[in-house]
Amino acid sequence: MSVLAPGTRKSCYKCGREAEVMVRYARLYLCREHYIEYIEERIMKTIEKYGLLSGVKRLLIALSGGKDSLSLAYVLSRNKEKIGLTEIIGLHIDLGINGYSEESRESVEKACSELGMKCFILSLKDLLGLSLPEIIRKSNRPPCSVCGLIKRYIINAASIELGVDAVAMGHHMDDILLFYLRNFLLGVKSDYLKLGPVIEAKDTIVAKKLRPLYEVYEEDLSLYAKLRGIKTVGTECPFKHNDHIEKAIKEMLDKLENHAPGYKLSLLRRITSSEKREALLSQEVFTCKYCGSPTNNKDNICALCKLTQNVFGEPRGLYLKQKLKEFLH
Ligand code: SF4
Ligand code: ZN
Ligand code: ZN
Repeated sequence: MSVLAPGTRKSCYKCGREAEVMVRYARLYLCREHYIEYIEERIMKTIEKYGLLSGVKRLLIALSGGKDSLSLAYVLSRNKEKIGLTEIIGLHIDLGINGYSEESRESVEKACSELGMKCFILSLKDLLGLSLPEIIRKSNRPPCSVCGLIKRYIINAASIELGVDAVAMGHHMDDILLFYLRNFLLGVKSDYLKLGPVIEAKDTIVAKKLRPLYEVYEEDLSLYAKLRGIKTVGTECPFKHNDHIEKAIKEMLDKLENHAPGYKLSLLRRITSSEKREALLSQEVFTCKYCGSPTNNKDNICALCKLTQNVFGEPRGLYLKQKLKEFLH
């Protein structure tokens, strides 16, 4: 995708007005209005193609305050009836990161009020007794891995507690490719089967997870959010570090995409083919012996209970779930 300079004399293929954007992978010139429409249609087509919303009436959306999840909230809300949803609920976790968390929270509150969407804002300090920076200090583990496991745990547990049919995540194509290639290059054992557009619910302890932005490029989401005037968090999380491997992967992928528009999309589809996704359904899920949440660990202790054992001297999964019950009802 490239934004065109004024006066390039290219016409929008839909309406003939002056084009503002060229979508390279689709070989389309579009005006602002039709570019917005094109991105929304792309998301709708992903939902349809993978049957993401089949059997889903009540949907939870995990909202971080960034462009990805907020754009998703806008698109789904605007098309709520069309896609057969009766209710969309937002969920934001306030991590207690000075400056960044306040701004993220404001962006989520503004978007939800504009969209008339019910939203739960949960503070990590209220749920676990400590903010993310405090937990990171005590755990001595990489910040983003601590943050990721806590968010995954809360989102899953909140979806089960609210009894929604599924939870939608704001992961886009570039996120998924980066995760896959980074782990591959570092030789990290990872569950690639979970990278598809949908993860089915299991045994009433795993909530169904959807990725409606699965086939959407990150740069398209940035431009979509900008053109739609969506206010997103402007500051970067202070824990975000400059990862050289991530930077190299992004550069390599961008070069390949430049050379052959559409490359990223075809790579993504090959990585997470449907046969691989079906294998996921037969995978065994273990249950945490402390809190009953799903875990891949054969020692039957989930990642959150392990982390909290280390930080608080006791597993706090069950404690967190009781707090969720209080805050969500
Ligand atoms: Fe969490 Fe890392 Fe993202 Fe900060 S950058 S919000 S610590 S995952
Ligand atoms: Zn147009
Ligand atoms: Zn647990």
